[in-house]
Amino acid sequence: MGVGILRALICCLVCFSLLMAAPFCEARKAKPVHNTPRKAEVAAPVTEPAVPAAVQQITQIRWLMQKNTEVKDTFLRLVLDVTGPVEADAVIVNTPAPFLAVQIKGAVPGGGDSSLQLDGQIAGAAHLTGEGNNSRLMIALETGTVLSDCRIFTLPPDSAAHKPFRLIVDISTPAPDPGFRFTPGLKDKIIVLDPGHGGSDAGAVGPGGTREKTVTLAVAGDVKALLEKAGAKVYLTRTGDDDVFGPLAAAREELQARVDVAQRYNADLFISIHANAAANPLARGTATYYYKKTAYDALLAYEIQKGMVRAGALKDKSFFPANFYVVKYTSMPAVLVELAFISNAGEERLLGDVKFQETMARGIVEGVDRFFMQTSAQED
Ligand SMILES: [Zn+2]
Repeated sequence: MGVGILRALICCLVCFSLLMAAPFCEARKAKPVHNTPRKAEVAAPVTEPAVPAAVQQITQIRWLMQKNTEVKDTFLRLVLDVTGPVEADAVIVNTPAPFLAVQIKGAVPGGGDSSLQLDGQIAGAAHLTGEGNNSRLMIALETGTVLSDCRIFTLPPDSAAHKPFRLIVDISTPAPDPGFRFTPGLKDKIIVLDPGHGGSDAGAVGPGGTREKTVTLAVAGDVKALLEKAGAKVYLTRTGDDDVFGPLAAAREELQARVDVAQRYNADLFISIHANAAANPLARGTATYYYKKTAYDALLAYEIQKGMVRAGALKDKSFFPANFYVVKYTSMPAVLVELAFISNAGEERLLGDVKFQETMARGIVEGVDRFFMQTSAQED
């Protein structure tokens, strides 16, 4: 009952719908700009298997430019049809020219090596080559793409749509440089932490009664202690079980009050801490959200997500652009983290555990530290 609970519910429903949509990106409301599938060359049928049965074949590569209007992002999507499950990893290689090198384990090009001509907005060409039982997809990048602009994931076969197993490579348009300049290290950095919910708004409540607002405040306190030990100046949007604007305020007033704290202190970074909730009690894992308003929001999300997953060892639900108020309207790089699912009984127990709270806080701080290392390295 009440606006607070309604607000929590809206927050959780938004998170939930986003998370549910994420693994099925092709089903998202994304408008294709071009849709020009290019077939990779397909070899003549082989009478004898040229590769062991366990090695999959990449039967087709196609590409398209997509627009995510909600977060104002245009991205290049490469879709590789594969005969079965594969694993993939990517790095950016800058010499002699910038390339995204995607290593695909356990799959060979079905029709031999193949090349794709792309439209040059984000990448100019892609070339697939076999290397033993693996493949390598080299994508020639046109712009200042960094690894946090790239997302690689797989989609299971969809028999209704006659789609096989797919490996997806998404590359976003790099955000314009707003002129932020960072130095390495945490010393003297101004960081505003936003413990989600509070006061009249409990946030999501777990099946065992754990309240999101209690967990977020505890983790924010741990993050503050660690950052201050490293010399950072840290401010919290709330330090007790309080509403930031006032009890039972409208969602917009309450969220703007949190943004105002970050603006008032002229923060270098803003981190909003939440726990996730879903109707499915088995939903689990860690996720991070950002709004791409500076060149650094995606990188901050990437590093903090990596730090949390490494520390907490929960399922990696990845990092996503999202239209969340506090990350959109703060002027500095900002993220909203979903530590784990409070609606999952096992993860609820973890979220209430002081040791686990400290572990996740350490992961967040490691991510922040890596972020300043990366951004200052980019200046060279
Ligand atoms: Zn929340």
